[in-house]
Amino acid sequence: MKVAIYPGSFDPVTSGHLNIIRRAANIFDKLLVCVMVNAGKNPMFTLEERVEFIRRVTSDIPNVEVDSSNELLAEYAKRKGSCVIVKGLRAGSDFENEFQMALINHKINPNLDTMFLTAEHQYMYLSSSTVKELGSYNVDLSDFLPEQIIPDFQERISTIQGGNRK
Ligand code: ADP
Repeated sequence: MKVAIYPGSFDPVTSGHLNIIRRAANIFDKLLVCVMVNAGKNPMFTLEERVEFIRRVTSDIPNVEVDSSNELLAEYAKRKGSCVIVKGLRAGSDFENEFQMALINHKINPNLDTMFLTAEHQYMYLSSSTVKELGSYNVDLSDFLPEQIIPDFQERISTIQGGNRK
């Protein structure tokens, strides 16, 4: 059984992420979407919330499993018996970083390869951080976020804005 891992921060999962998840789930027998702990980032949603959001929006895809980890990705893949990491590649900015990470992961675990799926054109410039910025301006988010998480996202934005006004 070919198991692939799709790692990321998913803070929160966007329609661009979901597009990659659906396409990767069509290629592999099982796709493990893994929310990675990144000490350098200060997330808007907790690890548990991010995992729950991904579970909610992928509940119709039977071969997707959602997990979280604070391990090194190469170690996590070894433990899960997977030899493929899936990454989404957007216009411009992703390439240098992702290329470097793919080489490092392959060096640490030579059985591990990284496969890139190019972003769908309508999601080419979409990132979780863009959505978080747009969220403060009352913009319609239905092209950017899966509909099942929009109410929770908007509620969190209002809570943060309420807190900032105090
Ligand atoms: P970001 O905060 O930039 O959205 P993540 O760490 O959550 O980053 O992203 C996880 C993976 O998903 C990365 O491989 C990233 O390149 C990819 N990705 C993020 N947004 C998109 C998108 N709009 N289309 C395709 N791939 C994406």
